[in-house]
Amino acid sequence: ETQLDDTTFTTYESEVRSYCRNWPAIFDTAQGSWLTSIDGKQYLDFFAGAGALNYGHNHPALKEALIDYLVRDGITHGLDMSTRAKGEFLQTFADRILAPRNLDYKVQFPGPTGTNAVESALKLARKVTGRESIISFTNAFHGMTLGSLSVTGNATKRAGAGVPLVHTTPMPFDNYFDGAVEDFSWFERVLDDHGSGLNRPAAVIVETVQGEGGVNVARAAWLRALQELCADREILMIVDDVQMGCGRTGEFFSFEFAGITPDIVTLSKSIGGYGLPLALTLMKPELDIWAPGEHNGTFRGNNPAFVTATAALNQFWSDDLLTRDVHRKGEIISESFGQLSAEYEALSHRGRGMVQGLVFDEPAQAGEVCALAYEAGLLAETSGPEDQVVKLLPPLTIDEDDLSHGLTILSDAVATVQP
Ligand code: PMP
Repeated sequence: ETQLDDTTFTTYESEVRSYCRNWPAIFDTAQGSWLTSIDGKQYLDFFAGAGALNYGHNHPALKEALIDYLVRDGITHGLDMSTRAKGEFLQTFADRILAPRNLDYKVQFPGPTGTNAVESALKLARKVTGRESIISFTNAFHGMTLGSLSVTGNATKRAGAGVPLVHTTPMPFDNYFDGAVEDFSWFERVLDDHGSGLNRPAAVIVETVQGEGGVNVARAAWLRALQELCADREILMIVDDVQMGCGRTGEFFSFEFAGITPDIVTLSKSIGGYGLPLALTLMKPELDIWAPGEHNGTFRGNNPAFVTATAALNQFWSDDLLTRDVHRKGEIISESFGQLSAEYEALSHRGRGMVQGLVFDEPAQAGEVCALAYEAGLLAETSGPEDQVVKLLPPLTIDEDDLSHGLTILSDAVATVQP
C-alpha cells in the first residue's frame, strides 16, 4: 500500500492548483457535508466540490445506485453509444425536469466537463447563425479552453492565453453601474449605427449569478430585457448554468425565476450528482443542425455518472422539497451575512438561494477569513476579480446545525480580521 509521507505531501504542494495550497490537508473520505483527512481531522464543506456536490458527499441513495450498477457489470466507458444508463437518464431528465417546466430541449453530451458544454454552445450558435462574435459580460466566467476563456472577463484568467483572445463583445453585467440599468437600447443604437464597426453577434452568453466573478446577481427584469434584445435581433441566448443550475439558487434551472427560456443551456458540475464528470448542452430542437460526427469526442456520455445523475433526479426532483430547503437555508446564510455587514462597515453581502457572498472592501481580508476558517475546520473559497468575496456553496442538503456551526466559524474569523 502507498504510504503518504511528507515527501508525497510536498509533491502535492508543488501542484499549481490553489486548492492544495489553501487547504494543505490530505483528504481521504467524505460523507454528507463533512470531509475527513488522513490524520482524522474533520472539515465542514462550504465549497462542495466547487459546486459539483449539491447533494453532498456519498449520498446513500446515489452510492447504492452506483454500487448496484458496478456489481452487475454495467457499462463504464463514455462513448456516445446507446446504453440503458443513458436512456434512463434521458427519460428521467425529460420526465422530472423538462416536462414539468414545459421546456422542449434536445440534449447533447459535449464532453466530460463544464467548459466542453460552453464550447459546444458557442460553436453551435456560430454555426446556426453564420455569425462570429459573442456577447459576454464583465466578470463572467465560462471556462479555461480557448472559446470559453474568450468569453471570460477576468484579466488574470485571460492572461493565461498569452495572446489576445478573439470573438467577443464585452458588455456590463447587471448592477455593474451603481444605478441599475436594464435598458439595452444603447446597444441597439450602436448595432444600427453604420459608423460603429459592430457586427451583429451570434449569441449572448450569461450567468444568472456570476459565481467565479464574485457572486454578482442578475435581476429578473435585467434578464428579461436581455432576452428581449436577443429575440428582437435574432441573437441566440445561452444561459451558462454550470455552477448555478441543479438547484443552487432554489429552482432546478437558475433562470426559472425570471420567466425566460434560453435558446441554449449548459449544465455540468452537480448534474452527475455524485461528483462524477458529466456535462450537458441543451438546445431548442430547431438548433439541432450538426450532422453526425461534426461535434464528437471520446468521453461524452459517462455511464456511471448517468446512473448517479438519474438517482439524484429521482431522489431530489420528484417534489419541491429541495427548492423550499434552499430558500430557507439561503435565508439563514443571508441573515448571518446581513448581521456581519451591519456590524462592520467594510463588509457587504449578496447572493441568491444557497450561493451567498460576503464582500470585503479590503480583498486580503477575504483570504485571511478563509485561512482562519480552514484552521477551524471549515472549507470556503474566495471569488471575484480581486478575490474580495468569500463565496459560500454548501451542499444543498446540509444539516441546519452544521450550517449554523460553519457560519459561527466564519463570524469569528471576520471578528478576528476586522480592526
Ligand atoms: N461555467 C461556469 C459558470 C463555471 O462556474 C465553470 C466552472 N467554475 C465553468 C463554466 C467551467 O466548468 P469546468 O471547470 O468544469 O470546465
